[in-house]
Amino acid sequence: MQVFKFGGASVKDADGIRNVAAILKRYAGQPLVVVVSAMGKTTNALEEVTQAYANETGQAADLLNKVRNMHTEAADHLFNADRSLPVYADMEKHFLRIEEMLDKKPMAAYNFIYDQIVSLGELLATRLVSAYLNHAGVYNEWLDVRNCLKTDNTYREANINWEVTNWQVREKVLPVMRENKMVVTQGFIGATIEYFTTTLGREGSDYTAAVFANILEAEAMTVWKDVPGILSADPRLVTDAVKIPRLSYYEAVEMTYYGAQVIHPKTIKPIQNKGIPLVVRSFLHPDDEGTVIHTEDTVDVNSIPPIVVIKKNQLLLNVRTKDFSFVAEENLSAIYNLFAKHRVKANLSQNAAISFSACIDNVPYKVEPLIKELQEHYNERIHSNLELITIRHYTPEAVMRFSKDREVLLEQKGKTTIQLVVR
Ligand code: ASP
Ligand code: MG
Repeated sequence: MQVFKFGGASVKDADGIRNVAAILKRYAGQPLVVVVSAMGKTTNALEEVTQAYANETGQAADLLNKVRNMHTEAADHLFNADRSLPVYADMEKHFLRIEEMLDKKPMAAYNFIYDQIVSLGELLATRLVSAYLNHAGVYNEWLDVRNCLKTDNTYREANINWEVTNWQVREKVLPVMRENKMVVTQGFIGATIEYFTTTLGREGSDYTAAVFANILEAEAMTVWKDVPGILSADPRLVTDAVKIPRLSYYEAVEMTYYGAQVIHPKTIKPIQNKGIPLVVRSFLHPDDEGTVIHTEDTVDVNSIPPIVVIKKNQLLLNVRTKDFSFVAEENLSAIYNLFAKHRVKANLSQNAAISFSACIDNVPYKVEPLIKELQEHYNERIHSNLELITIRHYTPEAVMRFSKDREVLLEQKGKTTIQLVVR
């Protein structure tokens, strides 16, 4: 059995969904779990609904209606506007849940509200995809992933409860496979044991697919994207980026760790743990081979070009002890504890005698409380509007090319990787 993941770009409108159905038609009757994200930019639109509701701007209902119109329009294209079909009522049920919430004053914590609202995107997209596939003769069952993907209650960044998820996934998926049908389910979302909806972090659908692949011991997992595979750099930033045919899990983890946005960073571990190949390929050119991520022995390291990852909107945070005590083990662990507490990741860090520097993503809702707490014990300085450039398998030419005309604030260099914090 295999697991496929289709991201937002692949199902951005009715034509996108038709294309996904055409790809899946080739696999009709095969045991397959299809994980789908929200259509196009729906998640962003739902984030706006969340903000409007939480801040009581009075705009939430209108913003939600925009989301409704977009989905109804797609459904009308796919189903000839036959509003008697159950897919319309199914979508409306999901809207009703949210509308009931919007009618009340926002009392719950922001992150909880966020997950209840933002999860709507995946529920709607899978309703459309599943119904259209059945309509096109690709028989499948729609699975509410919240019934099997169980998490803790870290809203917006929930952690999987593997034990419960393990048996729930088997219980829900295997019977459908036995009927030679596909399973169509949501990426990115899950639920606590008490059935409160959670999300796994933005772009988390890849991770969902990896969880299914791991538990079901899939033959392969495929992520269908709008790029031909994994490229040596983001083609929007580096025009001569090339496709890499094969990568090891190790290399893929390193790339995503440094911020390559090809796949969600958490995706590799569940796949690697079971030795499952991960294929990244294009939904626009489904006959082309993409990139295969597999064990180290399947890859020729010398064939890997310099891989460039550019992370924008970075902050360089510098903290210094107030009393000139050394930044040694005690201070370092205190600082890192605060980073962990506020879920801020150091993309690069360095320490000197009485100071510590870290390059971090500029995510105000995490960074502001962190800095507040750091200020109690340290003096801090922040440089903003920076980029973090990471080059794996770097060459002198590659380093030259990306640091030319830039002010380098910090540089860190190892045998295979160089990182530059630049302005
Ligand atoms: N729809 C979610 C997002 O845009 C999850 C995903 O696309 O993987 O973040
Ligand atoms: Mg998405």
